[in-house]
Amino acid sequence: MQDSHAKNDAVIQIDKVSTRFGDHVVHSDVSFDVRHAEIFAIIGGSGSGKSTLLREMILLHQPNSGSIRVLGTDLQTIDEPQALALRQRWGVMFQHGGLFGSLTVLENVGLPLREHTQLDDALIDEIAAWKLSMAGLKPEVGGQYPSELSGGMMKRASLARALALDPELLFLDEPTAGLDPDSADGVDELVLKLRDLFGLTIVTITHDLDLLWQVTDRVAVLADGKVQGVGSMAELAQIDTPAVRQFFDGARGRSAREQQRSQQHAGTTVGETS
Ligand code: ADP
Ligand code: MG
Repeated sequence: MQDSHAKNDAVIQIDKVSTRFGDHVVHSDVSFDVRHAEIFAIIGGSGSGKSTLLREMILLHQPNSGSIRVLGTDLQTIDEPQALALRQRWGVMFQHGGLFGSLTVLENVGLPLREHTQLDDALIDEIAAWKLSMAGLKPEVGGQYPSELSGGMMKRASLARALALDPELLFLDEPTAGLDPDSADGVDELVLKLRDLFGLTIVTITHDLDLLWQVTDRVAVLADGKVQGVGSMAELAQIDTPAVRQFFDGARGRSAREQQRSQQHAGTTVGETS
């Protein structure tokens, strides 16, 4: 599917993006690349512009200036047919799931297939059931309604829907937020598996230090409208600017790092950077 990409090709190129809402400057000259088949995280305090940046990458918002290229297409000059084609090449899991309460889980997962393909209902149900299992849900969950699901199951169902059209690129907004530690660990493993088994490129917004240390390849730190650093967590840990230090010097940062070290010593660490 991505044979035209060499391993380190940029799948997303963000170049000098500036965004403001009225007088409020959210991004000024934000630039970074996301490479093929990497798990890339965007971190930053609340209101630092993470979700807005993600919305800009998926054609839900236009920056005031700068350019964003996704899968080789410049989003600033894109026309409607190109946009439609591009939207089918990525999947998005929104922060609050975004499942329709009036549809069963299976119907929710099948929705993108109903919208974008001519497949018949039986085949759509079959594909949706396969996506549910890819997301680690049992078949019977397909018949349930979103209100009957736990937080972790809701995230997985939403992930299954994001995978419906076999995307090359997956966007996740806070995939583990609000989950208990066991469910969050499950989602971490799932993200890693999706990349390793299917070669997906994954961009995630997260506050979750376990996800950051154990799963992501590289991380961009957003603060004060700027990218304060981009690199592996180990590289970022060496950066001295206050906005970056904030993430490493808190107690949660320390404990996650120590956990990482002890796992490395035990030889059980996952999410090696490549
Ligand atoms: P984050 O996801 O990092 O918490 P957001 O990208 O959601 O931050 O928001 C960044 C800033 O932009 C916030 O101050 C927010 O209030 C503002 N903002 C986001 N979307 C809009 C909008 N549609 N209209 C006005 N202000 C917005
Ligand atoms: Mg947000």
